[in-house]
Amino acid sequence: MSVTTTHPTVKNFINGKFERNGAPSLDVLSPLDGSVISTMPMSGNKEVNAAVEAAAAAFPEWSAMTLKDRVQIFFRYRTLLDENKDELAKLVQVENGKTFGEAMAEVMKSMELCEFAVSMPQIVTNEIQEVSRGVECRIERKPLGVVACITPFNFPNMVPHWTVPNALVLGNTLVLKPSEHVPLSTVRMAELLKEAGLPDGVFNVVNGGKEVVEAICDHPNIKATSFVGSTKVAKIVYKRASSNLQRCVALGGAKNHLLVLPDAHVGMTANNVVASMAGCAGQRCMAASVMVGVDKVQHIIDEMVKEANKIIPGENLGSVISKEAKERIERYITEAEAQGATILVDGRNTVVKGNEDGFYVGPTIIDHVKPNMAVATEEIFGPVISIIRAKDLDEAIKIENSSNYGNAAAVFTQNGGLAKKVIDKASAGMVGVNIGVPVPREPFSFGGWNESKFGVGDITGKSSIEFWTQNKKTTTKWNPEDKRDWMS
Ligand code: NAD
Repeated sequence: MSVTTTHPTVKNFINGKFERNGAPSLDVLSPLDGSVISTMPMSGNKEVNAAVEAAAAAFPEWSAMTLKDRVQIFFRYRTLLDENKDELAKLVQVENGKTFGEAMAEVMKSMELCEFAVSMPQIVTNEIQEVSRGVECRIERKPLGVVACITPFNFPNMVPHWTVPNALVLGNTLVLKPSEHVPLSTVRMAELLKEAGLPDGVFNVVNGGKEVVEAICDHPNIKATSFVGSTKVAKIVYKRASSNLQRCVALGGAKNHLLVLPDAHVGMTANNVVASMAGCAGQRCMAASVMVGVDKVQHIIDEMVKEANKIIPGENLGSVISKEAKERIERYITEAEAQGATILVDGRNTVVKGNEDGFYVGPTIIDHVKPNMAVATEEIFGPVISIIRAKDLDEAIKIENSSNYGNAAAVFTQNGGLAKKVIDKASAGMVGVNIGVPVPREPFSFGGWNESKFGVGDITGKSSIEFWTQNKKTTTKWNPEDKRDWMS
């Protein structure tokens, strides 16, 4: 594998300009080989204030443009994503550690998100009705003002696109804070948005960590914030932003259960479960984390072991994000083993030849896990699946329902009635039938339940239109001679 190359120093993007002042600097590492590939500023209040000021100054002109005019910029931007997709995918791969194919899928998904945003003029058509003779009521969607978006490390290109295109085409101006692990993709995002013709100040990026997040939550001129990350931080952000009277939607972590029934198609199930567990090195909020095997499923587990053994770290499996993540994941496996679980495939101590300092964990299948073990209840966020055996479907559903999280759940079966039962009873926002990663594609919205999401509505799709706008209700009368209605 080619070793990573260095990238220019990361700067904040404020009012259409890249700038870097005296903020402390943090090394950006590539998890592929552990090398330093750039440095980024750990900004604070000052930079957030400057970005909000720029966004506020850009708001009147941007919001006064018609929706049809604003989307033209995103048509051009979507074309630029397409023209630059190889480079953008390479950047995702280098800073995040996923495979090139996975990184490319992420960029393609960003394009799909732009396609939804540019379709807004067809969807956001407002409402009008003559409510009494000569009197019209009309509802228009108006932007909120300056809004913010805080993102995690696992999809450096895609997750910002859950928010940015929709929030901007609807007329808001925005401040983005990417994860400090992966600041490079947002630099290119800013460059390409500028190239597409986005006016200065409409989109701003402030790099940093906790201090930037807190400054965003506390800022009196930020009207709404979307957050994606762990449940621990989602709770902090949701509470803090809401208490400062911001709208907030905060997506958190996950512990997704796949319920496998004995009649499931063996090849398809084994392939899907293992791909869901190991894809993006298990660092997807939609990744399979627990498989609940109902009754006699040994033949499927045997096949899963064969599938997992086809996965070669450094070839068709990327790295995890950091040394700390690798150590945390390996600790979970060791603890489960000590508690009596059986390690069928062991990804600990994985070293990739040529990239010995990269952060790799091999695919791991842990069988005979008990529902109260940490590997059954906590988010591991690595290529690890815990198998819990259940005697029947009711017991399997009970196990799924007992999770604090509720992002995704899936069932593997050829029996429609049993599949319907899982669809009805699963305590999760996104459910799959014979699909290991049941991500709803546009125009369907994305969002979990329970501790996987705080706030009303979902983060993408039609749901996001509600979140990023407010309604203006206008009642109009022009004919003074018409006096017949008691309300007019
Ligand atoms: P994280 O919560 O550590 O970080 C997310 C953001 O919060 C980053 O920008 C980070 O700088 C900031 N942050 C971190 N600690 C903070 C603190 N104490 N106070 C304020 N801000 C803080 O998440 P991560 O490790 O970057 O991403 C992985 C997590 O994101 C996993 O839990 C995963 O399930 C979750 N995730 C969820 C979804 C979803 O749709 N539900 C999607 C992607 C990722």
